[in-house]
Amino acid sequence: MDAKNPTLSLPPKPREFGFHVGGRWIATGKRETMERLSPGHDVPVTRITLCTRKDLDEAVAVARKTFDSRVWSGISGAERATVLLRAAAGIRARAEELAYWETLETGKPISQSRAEVEGAAGIYEYGAGAARCLHGDSFNNLGDKLFGIVTREPIGVVGLITPWNFPFFILAERIPFMLAAGCTIVAKPSEMTSATTLIMAEILTEAGLPDGVFNVVTGTGPEIGQAMTEHVGIDQISFTGSTAVGRHALLASATNFKKAGLEMGGKSPQVVFADANLDDAADGVVFGICHNAGQCCVSGSRLIVEKSVADEFEKLLVEKFARVRIGDPLDPSTQLGAIVSTAHNEKILGYIRKGGEEGARLACGGESVASKAGRFIHPTLLADVTNDMAVAREEIFGPVLTMITFTTRDEAIAIANDSVYGLAASVWTSNLDKALGTIRRIQAGRTWINTTIAGGPEMPIGGFKQSGIGRDTGMYGVEEYMEVKSIHIALGGRDHWVS
Ligand code: NDP
Repeated sequence: MDAKNPTLSLPPKPREFGFHVGGRWIATGKRETMERLSPGHDVPVTRITLCTRKDLDEAVAVARKTFDSRVWSGISGAERATVLLRAAAGIRARAEELAYWETLETGKPISQSRAEVEGAAGIYEYGAGAARCLHGDSFNNLGDKLFGIVTREPIGVVGLITPWNFPFFILAERIPFMLAAGCTIVAKPSEMTSATTLIMAEILTEAGLPDGVFNVVTGTGPEIGQAMTEHVGIDQISFTGSTAVGRHALLASATNFKKAGLEMGGKSPQVVFADANLDDAADGVVFGICHNAGQCCVSGSRLIVEKSVADEFEKLLVEKFARVRIGDPLDPSTQLGAIVSTAHNEKILGYIRKGGEEGARLACGGESVASKAGRFIHPTLLADVTNDMAVAREEIFGPVLTMITFTTRDEAIAIANDSVYGLAASVWTSNLDKALGTIRRIQAGRTWINTTIAGGPEMPIGGFKQSGIGRDTGMYGVEEYMEVKSIHIALGGRDHWVS
């Protein structure tokens, strides 16, 4: 595809991918393949290889051998930074191609894919800086005869399992940090969205990453993902996806007690106080549930609004929802694209029906968009919701907002925290005391005041409670992929133990 003249038409035939191990493409050969339909167009767009357990074993062996060779872990942070900077440039050079395939496989709007690709390049640049800032500690307070040094070392081979909702961006929130630390990687993208991970492998090789540092195997979660979590040749698993599969991954990791970093689901509260700028808050709440068609781990899916302004706020939301541009993901003006699969589409519509059965009032939306190929759902507001309803407790992962009201701040905080999840939260108010006082008491890893889903690679991401274990991005993210070693150095000879 010509990056300067991007065509937004569908590909004439599905693009076929092998997989990428040891710095080279491996052809599908006699292995089975899987076709991906564009969820926004219902036509096949890509075909991936279903790797076998043997392919995974070989990829892990390559990653292990490469790690042990110290070709990556043994070089300076400055040299690692150079490769990461070249990778960022490589992403920018192929931005249009990456955005195109990302949109075709996920159904997200092309404008969003373009922004995510640009954002991802910036994360690789941050990773380059991080590679040069790694340091340990020293202890000069152990007495005159002992000196202590604490070093950080790369953990080894990381198994990276990523989901379908932000295939390229989530990859960027992991790879630069693992590489900055000096690790080698075997990645498995979701079978629905493997294209941009495979293209990234090529970009990293072209950027000068030594062969075998980054490897990609493709296939299904129950087959290849499960085998990765159990694999004794992998030192750490980084899993992003549902809480149910995350639990499974954690248990499977016990084979060799590998470290497991998990980023999972959420049911994130948006607390709106009466004194907030309501127009701003409504805009943020609409964005927070429509971004990526609500298929976003940090979607602000549980609106908790002060009762005195609830009617006014509901009106604002309904008005704004009606103005969200739903349409062909390849149209640059589209804001809300397709739902990732038929099964997921049905699951979302099922939750909307369930909300009605539970006593929620449908304030707007609630149905599929008529006369569009693919799967599209109108932004939906379920009002008169109480926090014990399934629609307020379970992750719907679609453009469906539940609205609950409160009268006191303590009540708002109690509702916000009454969830097994603790991934994200937003608070909207013009009173700084109230904002900070509230956010400090909400159990969530990623929080916002008077905004939502904003950030940068400097800031850590991850969840409290059943939303996750560990942190990614920021310097916390690099440390996640390192072991800590203490080195004790005797000074001035030894006081003999044997007399
Ligand atoms: P999953 O948790 O099933 O998938 C996430 C990743 O794990 C994918 O790469 C998947 O592979 C892989 N996987 C699946 N089964 C296993 C297994 N047994 N062992 C190891 N890896 C496995 O998410 P879904 O795609 O099914 O989405 C279901 C729900 O998960 C959503 O409705 C949403 O609630 C939540 N979710 C949360 C995300 C987040 O960012 N926090 C992202 C995506 C989903 P494959 O896709 O090839 O099967």
